[in-house]
Amino acid sequence: MPEFSMTIGGQQVPIKETFEVFNPATGELVALCPNASTEDLDAAVAAAKKAFPAWSSMPDAERQAACAALAGKLEEEAENIAHTLTLEQGKPLGGLGSRFELGAAQAWTGYTAGLSMPVKVLQDDDEAHIELHRKPIGVVGSITPWNWPVMIAIWHIVPALRAGNTVVIKPSPYTSLSTLQAVKAMNEILPPGVLNVVSSDDKLANIGAAMAAHPDIQKIVFTGSCGTGEKIMQTAANTMKRLTLEMGGNDAGIVLPDCDPKAIAEGLFWGAFINIGQTCACMKRLYVHDSIHDQVCEELVNFAKNIPMGNGLDENNILGPINNQMQFDKVASLVADAAKHGKVWLGGKPGEGLFFPITIISDLPADAPLIVEEQFGPALPVIRYTDIEDAIAAANSSDNGLGGSVWSNDIVKAKEIASRMECGSVWINKHGAIQPNAPFGGVKRSSLGVEFGEEGLLENTTIQVVFS
Ligand code: NAD
Repeated sequence: MPEFSMTIGGQQVPIKETFEVFNPATGELVALCPNASTEDLDAAVAAAKKAFPAWSSMPDAERQAACAALAGKLEEEAENIAHTLTLEQGKPLGGLGSRFELGAAQAWTGYTAGLSMPVKVLQDDDEAHIELHRKPIGVVGSITPWNWPVMIAIWHIVPALRAGNTVVIKPSPYTSLSTLQAVKAMNEILPPGVLNVVSSDDKLANIGAAMAAHPDIQKIVFTGSCGTGEKIMQTAANTMKRLTLEMGGNDAGIVLPDCDPKAIAEGLFWGAFINIGQTCACMKRLYVHDSIHDQVCEELVNFAKNIPMGNGLDENNILGPINNQMQFDKVASLVADAAKHGKVWLGGKPGEGLFFPITIISDLPADAPLIVEEQFGPALPVIRYTDIEDAIAAANSSDNGLGGSVWSNDIVKAKEIASRMECGSVWINKHGAIQPNAPFGGVKRSSLGVEFGEEGLLENTTIQVVFS
């Protein structure tokens, strides 16, 4: 069995306590993962704190070059990490799976390394010379989820490092191994202590909660559920930490009557089912005009039937299992309830183990839990509408506001409707497409702050205004 260890202060930490990580496709043990104590966390934070003065005062071009080199390191290790990711997360190696995730991690690293934060002159005249400088914050604590663990780790780590901070990352207990591997590889480039990782089952000690309370962590960047984000915000208040919180979504898609159902089926399918729906910005509710509602459901079913699901190590499979039992039970319960009240077009019943078939259900009451709650799995409610105003109001009725989409051949009309959707990103004729140069973050209870691009980078800084 392969060994995985935590990296603290540039060193592999001897393994003491461990917890088991299982393959969701087979139920087999993948590896024993180091289980951090609060002393391990303290050591990681102390290492990051010690590394901060040298890393933050390094000439910017040198720090930029080190960050850029991380992309090359990830490329070298991509196949190994992708293999581990498939084993612990379940997503297939191919398709929009592990190799795709590693490719995205490299792309985000390369782009973010290339960003810079020039001094801004606010005033330069006889009265005053005023400059706005951007400074790193200190030690950044990163807490990540299990759905896109490597890519999200990179979203947290690279902008923090690029801005001159040092980092302690804590991955999800379900998918710690790929992060341990990636951090170890990145430490071949970075000075000791600049990037540290602690893995935890959240039981021996709740390391995430301890990070939110830690006096020597100056900022938390978190991706995960709304409930955990709220707890972090409450705890972090005591030390006035900076926060970037990316949380849940319940994205709506609105299909206008001028669409060709067959032509949009593939885009709708991947918008809803990439990573079998375990994606924050997946389409989780689909509003379709009554005139084409049934054809859209039929075309989604036709498309879904040709997408193979199974063990991700088999190169033929394009979709994998749900990652963990808790999430599986949540999806199963939402679908069981919906199947009682609506029309099941496809799926509707759990498969073997943690496999859950693609499920499409229509004609549910507006307050059905499958519509109102974030399912985060392979089940899509399709909702019939006749008046576009009703569809927009229903789409906006959620407490979340991460993403949304409008589907139409009339781009002007689609953009007008898009502008009325209460969400941080809105797409026309696609859903969930993100890229490193476009800031990403939600409104309402979905997010606090943004990631990506210049705006995301600046979240890793404080300002200093210099008057001379
Ligand atoms: P989660 O909130 O259960 O766990 C996320 C992380 O928080 C894990 O590392 C976990 O160990 C840690 N954690 C647990 N308790 C903690 C505490 N008290 N304090 C600090 N940290 C703690 O979320 P999850 O189940 O891993 O991920 C699924 C959720 O993440 C979904 O709601 C999804 O929408 C959301 N998500 C959002 C985005 C986004 O960018 N908005 C991206 C991916 C996932």
